[in-house]
Amino acid sequence: MSKISNYYKYFFIVSFIFSYVTFLNLSYTDKIIDGNSFVNVSNLGRNDSGYIRENQYAIDVLHYDLDIELTPSPKLLKAKVTITLHLLKEDLNSIELNFYDNLKINSLKVNDYESAYSHTGKMLTINRNEHFSDTVKLFISYEGTPKRVGLSGFVFGTINNQSLVYTINEPEYASSWFPCNDIPADKALLDIKITNDKDNISISNGKLINVTEMDSRKSYHFKTVYPISTYLISVYSSKYSLLEDQYISASSDTMPLNYYVLPGQEEKAKIDFEEHSEMIKFLSSTFGEYPFIKEKYGVAVFLWQMGAMENQTITGIGSNFITGKKFFNDMLLHELSHHWWGNAVGVKSWKDIWLNEGFATYSEVLYNEWKFGASARISDVQKIKNHHNGTVYNPDQLFSGLVYNKGAWILHMLRKETGDSNFYAILKTYFNEYKYSSASTEDFIKIADRVSKKNLTLFFDQWLYTDSGELQIEYSWYIVNKNDEYELKLTIHQLNQFRTFEFMTDVEFQFNDVSQNKIEEIIVDKKEQSFIFKLKNKPVCVTLDPNNWLLASINIKSETNN
Ligand SMILES: [Zn+2]
Repeated sequence: MSKISNYYKYFFIVSFIFSYVTFLNLSYTDKIIDGNSFVNVSNLGRNDSGYIRENQYAIDVLHYDLDIELTPSPKLLKAKVTITLHLLKEDLNSIELNFYDNLKINSLKVNDYESAYSHTGKMLTINRNEHFSDTVKLFISYEGTPKRVGLSGFVFGTINNQSLVYTINEPEYASSWFPCNDIPADKALLDIKITNDKDNISISNGKLINVTEMDSRKSYHFKTVYPISTYLISVYSSKYSLLEDQYISASSDTMPLNYYVLPGQEEKAKIDFEEHSEMIKFLSSTFGEYPFIKEKYGVAVFLWQMGAMENQTITGIGSNFITGKKFFNDMLLHELSHHWWGNAVGVKSWKDIWLNEGFATYSEVLYNEWKFGASARISDVQKIKNHHNGTVYNPDQLFSGLVYNKGAWILHMLRKETGDSNFYAILKTYFNEYKYSSASTEDFIKIADRVSKKNLTLFFDQWLYTDSGELQIEYSWYIVNKNDEYELKLTIHQLNQFRTFEFMTDVEFQFNDVSQNKIEEIIVDKKEQSFIFKLKNKPVCVTLDPNNWLLASINIKSETNN
C-alpha cells in the first residue's frame, strides 16, 4: 500500500489550501460517488486481536475458487465459493474461517454434504462432523451487500455515472466479501470468475483464462499459478479502457502489462505508466526476476483517492493519480516493488509489516538512485527523515510514517553497516529463499547475519525493536599543527538522554582545494567519544555524515581552526 499518511497529509491537508484539484489538473466533471464519506486514518491498521482464532492456524487453505456475480444496481453480490483446505491437526474440533455475517449463507457443504454451521460477527464455524477428512472441500453460497470496512473493503462505486466495483482488503477485510482464512501467511492458489453486465470489463489477480458471454452478462475467469494471500485477492469491474504494453525479461520471456483506466484517461495514463517496463527491469536485476512472470503486471484505477494498493499482479490506484505528468512515479514504483516485498515474500504476521512497507519505500530510493545518481539517494532519504518515534516491529499503526520511513531508513543504515555488495546479496538471498512463502523479521535478520557474516543483533535491537527515535548528536573539532602534519581531534557527543547507540558513520574533511575532500569511517559506541586523525593538509571544515547514512539530527557545537 502506498504511504497513506504521507500522501494523505501532503495531498489532502495541503489540498484544502492550494486546491488539490487544480494542482492535479483534474477534470471537474469527474463526479465520484464512492459510498463512503470519510476514512479515519488514525483508526486503521491496528489489527483486531480477536479476529484470528487459534484453530485457524491448524488449517492450510490450498485453493480458493470464487464465483462472483455482481449487480451494481441494486448493489448486490452473489457468490459461490469452494475452499479446498488441509487440516493440520487430526482431531481439529472445528474449521473456523473469517466471514462477515451481513452476507447471508444459502448453502454450506462439507465434501458435498450440507452441514450445520454458526455464522456470527466475523466468524464462520463448522463443527467437526462425519464428513470431515484430511483435505476438506468446503462449498459456500451466499449473497448480500458487503459493508464498507477498513480502507474500502468491497465497494460498489460510481464515477461519471458509470459503476466501478473494486476492493481493498488490507489488512483484515477480505472476509467482508468472501469466507477465508485471513492470515497473511496462509497463501493459496486462486480461481476467480467475475460476472457483471456485459459492458463492464472485470479484472482480478493472475492470468485471464477466458471470457464468456451469456445474454446481457459477461464473465471473466482469472487464475493464479503462484500462491496469493487473502488480503491481495481483488476484484475490479467497470467500463474500463485497456492499454497494453509488455515486459521482456533478461531471459527473453514476454509478459503482458495491462492498464485499465477510465474512458478519457488513456493519453495521460500512457505517459504515466510508460516507465513500468524499465522499473520491472531494474527491480528484477536488483532483487531477482519479477516473481509473477507467468501471469502479468497491471494497474487498474479505483475510487480510493488516498493512494494505491499492490493487489497481486493488478495494483489499484486512485483515479485522481492519473495526471499525464508522472507526478506519482514513486507511488507506481512503490506498488510494483511490493510484488517482491509483500506479495512474493509475504509477511508471517502483521507485526512484520515493515518487511513490506519499509522495503517498498526503500525500493523507491534505490530506483531513483539508479536513475538519477547518488545525489537523488541523498535527497530521497532526507525527505523520509521524519516520523521516527515509535517501534518499527509490531507498530501501533500498520500504515504509519514510522513503518514506511523508519523501515526504509533501517535498510539504508543496514546498507552502510554491511557494505553495498553484502547489502544487495542479503536482499537477493532473502527474496530467493522466501518468494512464494512468508517471512518474519527474525527470518530476515538471520539472512542478513549469514550473508554479511556479521552479528547484527545490536543493530536491529537498537533501530527495529526499540523506540529509538532519531539520534541527537553534537560534535566539535580542533586542529593542532605538529611538524609537517596536522592532528585533528573530533569529539562526538550523543545527546539522547537514556540511550547510547552504536553507529557507523562517515567523517568528511574538506580542504581548501575541494577536490581533496577525504572521507573516513568511524564507529561510535559511547556517549562521548573522541577520534584523532593525522592529516597532511589542514582541513577547513569537518562534516559528520556528509552523505546522509545516519538517522540522526547532527549539530556542530564548535570548530577550532587555528
Ligand atoms: Zn506500500
